[in-house]
Amino acid sequence: MAEIKFENVSKIYADKTVAVDNINLNIKDKEFIVLVGPSGCGKSTTLRMLVGLEDISKGKLYIDNKCVNKLPPKDRNIAIVFQNYALYPHMTAFDNLAFGLKIKKIKKKEIYKRVMKAAEILEIEDLLQKKPKSMSGGQKQRVAIGRAIVREPKIFLFDEPLSNLDAKLRVQMRIEITKLYQRLKTTVVYVTHDQVEAMTLGDRIVVMDKGKIQQIGTPQNLYSHPNNLFVAGFIGTPPMNIINGEIISDNNILKFIDDSKDLKVNLPDNNALKNYINKKIVMGIRSEDIQYNENTDNENFAILKRKILFIEQLGHEIYVYFQLQNKQLISRLKSDNSLKKNDEINLSFNIQKMHFFDEKTGLTINKTIN
Ligand code: ADP
Repeated sequence: MAEIKFENVSKIYADKTVAVDNINLNIKDKEFIVLVGPSGCGKSTTLRMLVGLEDISKGKLYIDNKCVNKLPPKDRNIAIVFQNYALYPHMTAFDNLAFGLKIKKIKKKEIYKRVMKAAEILEIEDLLQKKPKSMSGGQKQRVAIGRAIVREPKIFLFDEPLSNLDAKLRVQMRIEITKLYQRLKTTVVYVTHDQVEAMTLGDRIVVMDKGKIQQIGTPQNLYSHPNNLFVAGFIGTPPMNIINGEIISDNNILKFIDDSKDLKVNLPDNNALKNYINKKIVMGIRSEDIQYNENTDNENFAILKRKILFIEQLGHEIYVYFQLQNKQLISRLKSDNSLKKNDEINLSFNIQKMHFFDEKTGLTINKTIN
């Protein structure tokens, strides 16, 4: 059992930097939770408070309903895997795995058993006699994970464990970490700045910015229903298209008109949006919700005629760039060889998939229109 609860937790460093600002978070037993956010948002500090390497300035941290603010790291039964592996260079992989257990004076036979079991899970049996300098990045990372496994901790923490690996290996290790989690079924807290990694790994994701939790949700939930402009822009590749404009009422029909007045959208009746009549507002739409030459007569779509600035080929799909206001926006389409740079096309914006945000607070006005 390992439930974790942050209750109004803050970390204020000696130089008065507020690294973590009053966070509340409940992590369930055996959950795989990912903390994600840009560099400096407070992820590592949160992890370091959890493991006990950093004092908590305000609030309370509970593990299994017991307040652990004052509990030393060695008594928390948490294992952490770091980005830089932190292996002992002069020891073989076997000794790296065994070292922590030897210090704990665990019997030799038991150490051997645990090391061999971890090696089998991670498929590193043939690396056990090698030293770190003769291992690849991925192999070192496996040994580092092995060292966490042999401790049989009740909580695993991963601090950007894949950042030093190349793109292909990162994808492979992501799959391995998922498999490992299914096998170990322990509570995992995983920190990354990479939203794709977060989306593919987490049962739930905690998005942080400037020391604060911006939103907690499943990957799908964050993607489809971002709480604010920060989450809308951070989650998803390419990022959500953001368009500034205002809401007007024209003969009792609610409309969104962008600042350049080129995009006019008839909106369905919506009470939340009615509060914004004649006010500035921010509209967000995902690139896949802007298609072309389709549904021009359908009231669910708003049409914008635009020249293609350029096309990015991704093989199975293309990103079509066009301009609105002073911004480059993206429509994501199925691969289509008939489209070329400078073609003028009708882009159809799916009205049902539009998100609206308060210009001042950045908060979502209504999750999506429907
Ligand atoms: P992340 O892991 O998301 O990159 P960190 O938790 O490392 O962010 O840092 C959060 C903020 O706290 C940053 O502004 C960082 O500069 C600051 N910070 C981190 N460690 C210290 C420290 N020991 N003293 C002062 N400020 C710190």
